[in-house]
Amino acid sequence: MIELRTPAEIEAMRPAGRFVAETLAALREETKVGTNLLAIDRRAHDLIRRAGAESCYIDYHPSFGASPFGKVICTSVNDAVLHGLPHDYALRDGDLVTLDFAVSVDGWVADSAVSFVVGTPRDEDLALIDTTQRALDAAIAAAAVGGRIGDISHAIAEVARADGYDINTDFGGHGVGRTMHGDPHVPNDGKPGRGYPLRAGLVVALEPWFLQTTDELVTDPDGWTLRSADGSRGAHAEHTVAITDEGPLVLTDRSFLSVD
Ligand code: MG
Repeated sequence: MIELRTPAEIEAMRPAGRFVAETLAALREETKVGTNLLAIDRRAHDLIRRAGAESCYIDYHPSFGASPFGKVICTSVNDAVLHGLPHDYALRDGDLVTLDFAVSVDGWVADSAVSFVVGTPRDEDLALIDTTQRALDAAIAAAAVGGRIGDISHAIAEVARADGYDINTDFGGHGVGRTMHGDPHVPNDGKPGRGYPLRAGLVVALEPWFLQTTDELVTDPDGWTLRSADGSRGAHAEHTVAITDEGPLVLTDRSFLSVD
């Protein structure tokens, strides 16, 4: 079921969005060569506790998960792109890291992800990250009253295809509200003018993610982490966006906090 939020409810979602933005900006700043993925999770846990927020991940146990997630942030490194389960690994020079973070504040959820390189970047990794960010920008621009979900999907796919990346439509964006995953599904490819009409009050997480040379995923033996089938690297960009009569409102915007 698709729920539309009132302007007052969208206002009430701002603290969750701001906390997710601030946390990702801080974690990105603190994550360097040598940082252990478990330390990132501990730090996120600490920030959640101090803010009185609630993790959407720690008890998350969907049908595809081997057991409850047990951590508060997804850390996906190199060929891992989605649902990366933090484990005992110290980041190495040139690693491509994705942090994906969702919490509930005052009963409202916000969900956002960022990819970046620690240490010396490879050109092809920076290009992949740039494409995912531009695909997210295009998705947000298409999140306008009067459009359709397919317009957002198509906008994402056009950016990816222009840069030569294939698109996996198994995992994509989703409605966000009292819970992390709601309707509608927002695939990362689709036909313009098709799908659910975009109305004021619709709040969605938009999340393009691409792999360098494949669109196929395999599940890591940890039961959670999704890796590229061919070992190529992945990147992910995600914001929680409210569609309003005044245009898209990026609830997890962190552009005022850091330079991505
Ligand atoms: Mg997310």
